[in-house]
Amino acid sequence: MIDYRSKTLAELEGLMESWGEAAFRARQLFKWLWRPGFSGITEITELPKALRARLALEGLVYGLKTERVTASRLDETVKWAFRLSDGAVVETVLIPGTNHNTLCISSQVGCAMGCRFCRTGTMGFQRNLLPSEICGQVLAVLEQTEPDRWPRNIVFMGMGEPLANLQNVVTAIRILTNELGLNFSKRRITVSTCGLAPQIIRLGREVEVGLAISLHATTDELRSRIMPVNRRYPLKELMDACRRFPLPKRRRITFEYIVLGGLNHSRQDAKRLARLLQGIPSKINLIAYNPVHGLPFKAPSSEDVLRFQKCLMDKGFTAIIRKSRGRDIEAACGQLWSKILKKGSERVTGLD
Ligand code: SF4
Repeated sequence: MIDYRSKTLAELEGLMESWGEAAFRARQLFKWLWRPGFSGITEITELPKALRARLALEGLVYGLKTERVTASRLDETVKWAFRLSDGAVVETVLIPGTNHNTLCISSQVGCAMGCRFCRTGTMGFQRNLLPSEICGQVLAVLEQTEPDRWPRNIVFMGMGEPLANLQNVVTAIRILTNELGLNFSKRRITVSTCGLAPQIIRLGREVEVGLAISLHATTDELRSRIMPVNRRYPLKELMDACRRFPLPKRRRITFEYIVLGGLNHSRQDAKRLARLLQGIPSKINLIAYNPVHGLPFKAPSSEDVLRFQKCLMDKGFTAIIRKSRGRDIEAACGQLWSKILKKGSERVTGLD
């Protein structure tokens, strides 16, 4: 069966052509597929009856089933758990902002990267999401929220490592940014990676989007302990890939830095971070670690975070302290993996 929502407009045009149909039929189909509230092929009355029958016979319009919606009592963060066709569950978080909201979407079920501070990393890898499942999270949120709360920014920072599912993520970005569909601005989409250096360059060649790097340490020794990916792509290789990333004009690479109590926020860390980022248009997001039950890390004190921020600012960097959102609903960074996802015993990985 053809998964129509996993196809870009160009791919649907190719399909229509192979069926002997005009290209504009693909545009009509694409528009309907991404219209919030769309219920099925039979609804597209502007398509000839025979074409609708063939579409219904040969493919499907894949939608996500909402398993649970949880709203934070502390702020306006909302977390969705979506059930996929094979029973797997992924999470999506709508994060309120001063001017506009941001949607944090998942790209995989689980994650193989095993970052030691991340709850998703403890559940292991199940599978890649299809483009229809990635974009479907966005569509489902639009369908379930008032238009004045619709997100303007999309970040690939939910469950999974997006660059380990590069082709489907690129296809999803092409679908999300098509003006006939959901029409998100490329400038407002950011892909976040834990550091798959070769794929960073490939992403930049394929689509023009923002890049965020989960850095979290300034030495290979510590980074390899808390992020096993660093053993494959150490800091030098990662920074080289960042320097070669074809950054859109006036854009900067965001470096996410979770401040782990007592581990990665000394003056020496600030110095080393400054050296690592030399020559890269960058901004640094500092996020105070949220303790996750069973993981061996501590939250830093607010003085620690402020001191580290000041060291970086004194060196001329933009360093912003990001507030953790949705702490009470386990929607904060590194916490995605709600209770309904846990099956059997919880495997918790400690430091080596
Ligand atoms: S932080 Fe991201 S890349 Fe690392 S284990 Fe968690 S989901 Fe995977």
